[in-house]
Amino acid sequence: MPGYEVIGNEELAQIKEIFDSGGILFRHGFDEQRRGCYKVKQFETEFCRFFKANHSLAVTSGTAALRVALAALGIGAGDEVITQTFTFVATAEAIIEANATPVFADINNTLNIDPKLIESRITKKTKAIIVVHMLGVPCEIDKIKSICKKYNLFLIEDTAWGCGGRFGDEYLGTIGDIGTFSFDFAKTITTGEGGMLLIKEKNIFNLASAWHDHGHENNPSFPRWEDTRSSSGFNFRMMELQGAVGLAQLKKLNSIVELQRKNKALLWENINDLEFIEPREIPKNSYETADALIFFVPNKTFALECRKNLTQNGIGTKILPEAYTWHFAGSWTHLDKVTKQSLCTETFIKSHNLLSKAVSIPISTKINKEIPILLRKSLIKTFQEYK
Ligand SMILES: *Cc1c(COP(=O)(O)O)cnc(C)c1O
Repeated sequence: MPGYEVIGNEELAQIKEIFDSGGILFRHGFDEQRRGCYKVKQFETEFCRFFKANHSLAVTSGTAALRVALAALGIGAGDEVITQTFTFVATAEAIIEANATPVFADINNTLNIDPKLIESRITKKTKAIIVVHMLGVPCEIDKIKSICKKYNLFLIEDTAWGCGGRFGDEYLGTIGDIGTFSFDFAKTITTGEGGMLLIKEKNIFNLASAWHDHGHENNPSFPRWEDTRSSSGFNFRMMELQGAVGLAQLKKLNSIVELQRKNKALLWENINDLEFIEPREIPKNSYETADALIFFVPNKTFALECRKNLTQNGIGTKILPEAYTWHFAGSWTHLDKVTKQSLCTETFIKSHNLLSKAVSIPISTKINKEIPILLRKSLIKTFQEYK
């Protein structure tokens, strides 16, 4: 979790610079009034440099980032996009907004997409795979990248929850064709609302940049009102206040991830001898952001009881087991109204079985000394009641 815990004077100082240099809140134009202050542009540049990426584009949210990614890759009506059953509903919403069809694949013990189950989902209509690094743990992206290569599919990484994580030497969000990030208030770094795309190819970047800005090509030969355009688009532009906050937050990303990893290890050390729990699997070569500590308990009843005991001890859970309806495709019957066809033709029993016996503890950058002890106490109490 997160950036909101470390918001402070650095963010305020960045915002003050905007007001000290003319108060221009729009990312484009007003070149004389703003006296060189371009916060969104600078945020994009520094984000790109941090992640060693080719191109970056700031947008209004993580959901917008996914929508812009699909537009830039030319994905639309008649196309299918494969994604995982365990993700935030936004991943599916973006696909539906693009007029394409989401096709879900079950997860494995990593709680991310099972690479072994992808090929059976590929049809002639499949154009892309959106993988999700759910709750900070990298998916098995090496295997998925090979599948994309073999079938000539685009690979989008929904990195909303993987900001600062790595697979091998590469940052999450820089491995596929496009990586999308969210800076909403619950994410690793935050701008209140906001998002970013990291893009490999220059021509895809150009399409994304234009599409997120009504088709504007920002042609340097013309003023903005005479600008050239070759496509339609929409408005998903980030504004200067968000860019300013993002610049300050980005400087804190390494320390946030390090603190989360340290705190997660501290909690895990205190319970890893309990034989009735099993940790979420972490793929080899991956460096997780440790957004949450997730473990499997014997069954759903145990998981719910565990949550009750944790809550009584002042420890929250994050999504699992209590709130997976927002994050599990098998429960999204409300989307059928939009898609006019049922997306949940299957029950995704494998995903359901894993998710319903998982318990997720949110990891904070600040951790009270009592927490590891109370966590252990709650788990042991649940086990004793269960016996
Ligand atoms: C948060 C999130 C999003 C959406 O990001 P917003 O900035 O809230 O629109 C998309 N995908 C996943 C996996 C997320 O967790």
